[in-house]
Amino acid sequence: MNHQAPSPRILLKRLRELMAEPLEPQDRLDRIVGQIADNMVAAVCSVYVLRADSVLELYATQGLKRDAVHLASLRMGQGLVGTIAASARPLNLSDAQSHPAFRYLPETGEEIYHSFMGVPILRAGRTLGVLVVQNTDEHAYSEEEVEALQTAAMLLAELIASGDLKKITRPGMELDLMRSVSLSGDAYGEGIALGHAVLHEPRIMINNLVNEDSDAEIARLRAAMEKLRFSIDELLQRNDVSSEGEHREVLETYRMFAHDRGWVRRLEEAIMLGLTAEGAVEKVQSDTKARMIRLTDPFMRDRMHDLDDLANRLLRQLTGHAVDTDGENFPEDAVVVARVMGPAELLDYPREKLRGLVLEEGAATSHVIIVARAMGIPVIGQATGVAAQVENGDAVIVDGDDGEVHVRPLDAVITAYEEKLRLRARRQEQFRALRSVDPVSADGVRVKLMMNAGLLVDLPQLDDSGAEGIGLFRTELQFMIASRMPKAAEQESFYRQVLDHAGNRPVTFRTLDIGSDKMVSYFRSQEEENPAMGWRAIRLALDRPYLLRMQLRALMKASAGETLRVMVPMVSEVGEIREARALMAKEVQHMARFGHRVPRRIELGAMLEVPALLYEIDELMAEVDFVSVGSNDLYQFFMAIDRGNARVSDRYDTISKPFLRMLRDIVRAGERNNVPVTLCGEYASKPISALALFAIGYRSVSMSATAIGPVKAMLLGLDISAVSNVVNAALDDPSNLTPMRALLERFASEHNIPL
Ligand code: PEP
Ligand code: MG
Repeated sequence: MNHQAPSPRILLKRLRELMAEPLEPQDRLDRIVGQIADNMVAAVCSVYVLRADSVLELYATQGLKRDAVHLASLRMGQGLVGTIAASARPLNLSDAQSHPAFRYLPETGEEIYHSFMGVPILRAGRTLGVLVVQNTDEHAYSEEEVEALQTAAMLLAELIASGDLKKITRPGMELDLMRSVSLSGDAYGEGIALGHAVLHEPRIMINNLVNEDSDAEIARLRAAMEKLRFSIDELLQRNDVSSEGEHREVLETYRMFAHDRGWVRRLEEAIMLGLTAEGAVEKVQSDTKARMIRLTDPFMRDRMHDLDDLANRLLRQLTGHAVDTDGENFPEDAVVVARVMGPAELLDYPREKLRGLVLEEGAATSHVIIVARAMGIPVIGQATGVAAQVENGDAVIVDGDDGEVHVRPLDAVITAYEEKLRLRARRQEQFRALRSVDPVSADGVRVKLMMNAGLLVDLPQLDDSGAEGIGLFRTELQFMIASRMPKAAEQESFYRQVLDHAGNRPVTFRTLDIGSDKMVSYFRSQEEENPAMGWRAIRLALDRPYLLRMQLRALMKASAGETLRVMVPMVSEVGEIREARALMAKEVQHMARFGHRVPRRIELGAMLEVPALLYEIDELMAEVDFVSVGSNDLYQFFMAIDRGNARVSDRYDTISKPFLRMLRDIVRAGERNNVPVTLCGEYASKPISALALFAIGYRSVSMSATAIGPVKAMLLGLDISAVSNVVNAALDDPSNLTPMRALLERFASEHNIPL
């Protein structure tokens, strides 16, 4: 058989013309296979499209029996076509029938063909179908022929993704591309969102795949590559990026790949085949993705992901495309889907359109997740592979309660979630109605329900939740999202905005709690083996007093003439609070000397997060104006479990006798010394643990804003003295072995208390 070298350039041009013509879908597909067969001098050209039920159906053919179209089919992994689809790799065989995977389909009449070449139809690494050419003689196709067929497959991928084949899909069948997908990840921010996907690093839709002039395209590619390298260097120099260890690592890898000769060579080769620079990037990227999906080594997969991200960046350089958050195409109910993301990037999205966040990476304490949670949107992390499954604009449901993402959900799933959402909204409505109801228990005990905050985006929740004030303002969050150390004047203005918003509601600022998992780039410290117990918070502040003094000064200036409430995190011994007080006194003097107005009154508190403090609690009370229990850290150190380690953090019940006894000892020490004791941290955010706190004597608690409603609803029906009797009796009775949680649940159910 005499084979001419195919001309990919001409083929692509013809195919592109066919794609643009106003044709019926089947007609278009038939002409496409005809064109490919002619161009490649093939006796047969067939297209198999992957259906949602994992079956590859023959959609068009030239050369095989026409009657077999829409009837002949193979399962994923079955026959040569199924093997190509499953492996996402081409097969080039001189004698197809001697291949062990060969499966004879009598309806097609293919027994007379020997040579066989099939390539996967790929889009973003997903297999959408298989494109095959066959000839009667026995010969292997050349490397150029494989490349040419792969390039044609790219156009077919575009056609399938455009939805054009929907009309010729048999009733009751669905194409795989439209299949709904559910993925599980880690739930980091509760709530439910129904919205439409916005890929943080969107795939660029390329309209011009076929080049007019290869040299000009190579020049474009090189120029874009230069810009890409430059932009990565720039990113690496930005402080907010270098602050994030994992983010930095990714960028370092990008830089390495951006200088990789092999990658550049593959791109240039694809251009020489007749593709535009964009087309070449897409082609090489698709091959990479297909390989990535089959890799099992997580390290290698990550590197492939990096290369894929890099290809996206290169495409954006070539097309000048960026996410347009104001444009018509940006959904009003955006669910942002990303592999990795920094906190500042999230803040770039319009808050009012943001409904949820799904990340492939991230941990409960990643900065971006802290920010997303502060925004009150549902967040899912560790949703492996989600970005490749989603197209911009796809319907997405984010279930931040159970850690699930549903992409292109089925109607039944949407209906179920709409119902869930309605119920939630009704509950939210009920909680909102409680906003102006006083937090008084059924037996007339008044408690204070405060909220935790840390960013300006949190402040509207002060009004929405009906909190009495901010019981914990985590000042370090502002430092964490900044690209450099906030200047004194910036800090002052920030604190003033917080105070202005709060009006006459009290705000308790916590001095910087950096170190441990809360790192800031411009304050580098050495690697620590146990950072949670390392050089952090007050320890760092006392060793580097400049930082603390600058912050105290900003806080004092912002609250000039008013009351300033400030507390110090992670105090381990009383001496530390004495030192902090001395530092503050010095600052007051300094300010007075320079004629600055100082606060009318300063209240200094200590956070109780280290168990040792309990053994000098009376001494501590003598030194402070108030104590705030940081239950997250206190529990971590009390039980010796790492709060960020999902394997152990839920191992023991937080509502246990030992922990409740400890919390009760603290509140009693406050009563004894006449020093107010409050509790901030997640413990107060769950109605059942808040119930325990009220029972053992806490009268002021601070929690996440969304918890105020549920906790208040629980409180209103509660007879505090009755539950106190039950709980205290159990805590004082070593022979009572009923778990405290069970005891509280029983009390709540007997008294109709909503938990
Ligand atoms: C705590 O430890 O309970 C606390 C409120 O501080 P953070 O969660 O910021 O460590
Ligand atoms: Mg803490």
